[in-house]
Amino acid sequence: MMNPTNIMAAVADKVLGHNPTSTRQQPKTHPTEKMKAIVWHGKFDMRYDEVPRPMVSEPHDILLKVTATTICGSDLHLYSGELPGMEKGDIVGHEFMGIVVDKGPDVKLPIGTRVVVAFDIACGFCDFCKREEYTSCDTTNPSRVAETMFGHALVGVFGYGHMVGGYWGGQAEYVRVPFADLNCLPIPEDVPDEKALYLSDVISTSFHACEMGKVKPGDKVGIWGMGPIGLAAARWAQILGASTVVAISGTEDRLDIARSLGCVVINYHEQDPVETISKMFPQGLDCCIDAAGFRFAKSIGHKIQRALLLESDTPEIITECCKACRKNGIVSVIADYPGTANNFPIGTISMKHLRLESGQSPTQRIWKMALEKLRTGEYDPSFFVTHTMRLKDVPDAYKQFYNREGGMVKIFVRP
Ligand SMILES: [Zn+2]
Ligand SMILES: [Zn+2]
Repeated sequence: MMNPTNIMAAVADKVLGHNPTSTRQQPKTHPTEKMKAIVWHGKFDMRYDEVPRPMVSEPHDILLKVTATTICGSDLHLYSGELPGMEKGDIVGHEFMGIVVDKGPDVKLPIGTRVVVAFDIACGFCDFCKREEYTSCDTTNPSRVAETMFGHALVGVFGYGHMVGGYWGGQAEYVRVPFADLNCLPIPEDVPDEKALYLSDVISTSFHACEMGKVKPGDKVGIWGMGPIGLAAARWAQILGASTVVAISGTEDRLDIARSLGCVVINYHEQDPVETISKMFPQGLDCCIDAAGFRFAKSIGHKIQRALLLESDTPEIITECCKACRKNGIVSVIADYPGTANNFPIGTISMKHLRLESGQSPTQRIWKMALEKLRTGEYDPSFFVTHTMRLKDVPDAYKQFYNREGGMVKIFVRP
């Protein structure tokens, strides 16, 4: 069953029509060959299905044979049906890597190259791409729903629904990658799939969280949410020289991982984060990172408002970040907020002279630097990878990940 959020988005998509784009969204498919993929059928209903195999569909495309993929924390918004724009039959997944097995005539990457693919689909020639603002690319998403909601269209994203283009995702055996010379990063032999995979999103996104927060030597940094992004950001904050990283979560096994990194931990079921931080650091933290997001209402009031559709997003994590932040500090919102929130703490931001930064990681600008950190071993993502499995087991993994069972943080999937 599609839920109201997705039905309304699909209706709006039909009514508003589409903007022209620099590339097609739906790939051409092979007349006879099939592949396996993870397909969205509705709320809490991901399936391992057989679907047509995509083909190179534009001169700038490659066809990638996927060798590794994973579930992102943000895929759980699709799983729970809370992010609008999903349609039955959509292939999900935006974090993947593999081998180039076919290419269009404009692609320089040789066939056989092992690459990681960025989650965001950038064109390389629009004004935003020229400034390396790849997650603002203006030419890859036809959705007028997004344009109507936000004032401008968003970048196209693999496997993340029709608000961002409806591109086929990478939780599959094959995927078509547009503008491949920009959106693929060749991986040297000395970096295994088990580490390189996470350059597609987690490692660059978590770096971007710290970059937006201007984390520098000596800073005291707080991170709300110890999913893969929060944990990965904690490690970046340390590399950037933070003197203290405070990790906040309600899940004890995730706090254990943060503890093993050397973070100060707060379990919000046991201690109030703002009170605890103000006891530890009376002036407050230099940078507060929200790596949790819009779904996580804590108070009864906001749980009711979300249930009654009076707000789509809860501002409670941002409110805690603003309260725990020192005057003139920075609140960096890397978490997803697709809608509107009531009781947004505009007064705290204004009166404490805070800077609020937000946005998605321009992966293609960050990943070469991050790859070098992987090669030297300074950044080793193994600490947040908890499970390894096959693609057929991914529907069950969604359930486990959503319910935070079995200590699952990040899975490594071989098709
Ligand atoms: Zn992701
Ligand atoms: Zn562009």
